[in-house]
Amino acid sequence: FLPDKSAKVFVAGHRGLVGSAIVRKLQDLGFTNLLLRTHADLDLTHQSDVESFFSTQTPRYVILAAAKVGGIHANNTYPADFIAVNLQIQTNVIDSSYRHGVEKLIFLGSSCIYPKFAPQPIPERALLTGPLEPTNEWYAVAKIAGIKMCQAYRIQFNWDAISAMPTNLYGPNDNFHPENSHVLPALMRRFHEAKIKGFKQVVVWGTGSPLREFLHVDDLADAVVFLMEKYSGLSHVNVGSGTEVSIKELAELVKEVVGFEGEVVWDDSKPDGTPRKLMDSSMLQALGWSPKISLRDGLVGTYNWYLEHVKE
Ligand code: GDP
Repeated sequence: FLPDKSAKVFVAGHRGLVGSAIVRKLQDLGFTNLLLRTHADLDLTHQSDVESFFSTQTPRYVILAAAKVGGIHANNTYPADFIAVNLQIQTNVIDSSYRHGVEKLIFLGSSCIYPKFAPQPIPERALLTGPLEPTNEWYAVAKIAGIKMCQAYRIQFNWDAISAMPTNLYGPNDNFHPENSHVLPALMRRFHEAKIKGFKQVVVWGTGSPLREFLHVDDLADAVVFLMEKYSGLSHVNVGSGTEVSIKELAELVKEVVGFEGEVVWDDSKPDGTPRKLMDSSMLQALGWSPKISLRDGLVGTYNWYLEHVKE
C-alpha cells in the first residue's frame, strides 16, 4: 500500500470524522490520487451508481469510512435508517470493490458490535457471543454484517478485505449536534455555549458512572494506514487507546478544557447505555502499533478546531 503513492485510493465518507482524518493522513504521506465523492456526487446507497463509479474509476484500494452514525439518542430515534442505510452502503461498496478488481479494502465499524456484557477489555473473539446493547443494535447488526461480508469474500474468493473496529472516536469534523451526537462533542458544545451565554449550570445525561475509552481520530487514521500496509487476516482488528474514563471524569475534563466555571448537573432520566466499553487492542499492539495522542491534548486540539469551524 505505502510504496505506490500514485495508486488510486477511494476514501468513502471523506467528509466525516473518520474519512476526513484518513484523507489528511494520506495527503501527509504523499498520496496523489485520492478518489473522493460527496454524497451529492455519489449516493452509496444506490447500487447502480456505485457500480458505475467502480467500473469507470477503478480504484486500487478502498477505505470504507462511509456510514450513518450517531449517538444514543439518534440510534433510538432512527432505527430503520441506522440498519438500512448502513447495510446498503457497505454491501454496495464491498461487492463492487471485489468485482472491479480492488486489491485491498478496509471496512470500518465500531466497538458497539460487541455484546452488552462482553468481557472487559473486549477481545475480538467476543463478537457474537451474546445480546447487543439495545440502544445501538441497529447500527451494530449492520456493522457485524460488514465484518462477516469481508470474511466471506476472503474465504470464498481469497480477496484481501479487512475490518477495523475503533473505540469511541473524537476530533475535527465530528458531529456537534446537541441531541444526536456522541457524548464528547455534545459536551464540548454544551459547555462552550454555557460559557459564552454565562449559564450557571450544564446538564449532562445519565449518572456519570459509565466508562468509555476515547481515541483521537488522527490516531485511528494512522492505525488504518498501518493495517492497510501490514495486516491481511480473517479477524477484524480492534483499535483502541487503552485510556478509559468515566462520563463524569470526561465531563470534568471537557469543562476544564473549554473553561466553563459553573456547575455540572446530572439528568438520570436519560439512558446510561452500556456500563463499560473498553477494547482489548493487544492484537494491534502485537502487530506493532500504538496511539500517540493523549485525551487532554486531543481535547485541546478538538476545541481549537471547534472554535474555528463551528458557527452557531
Ligand atoms: P455510547 O457510547 O454508544 O453509549 O454513546 P454516547 O456517546 O451517545 O453516550 C455515552 C455516554 O455518555 C452515555 O452514558 C450517555 O448517557 C452519556 N452522555 C452524557 N451526556 C451526553 C450527551 O449530551 N450526549 C450523549 N450522546 N451522551 C451523553
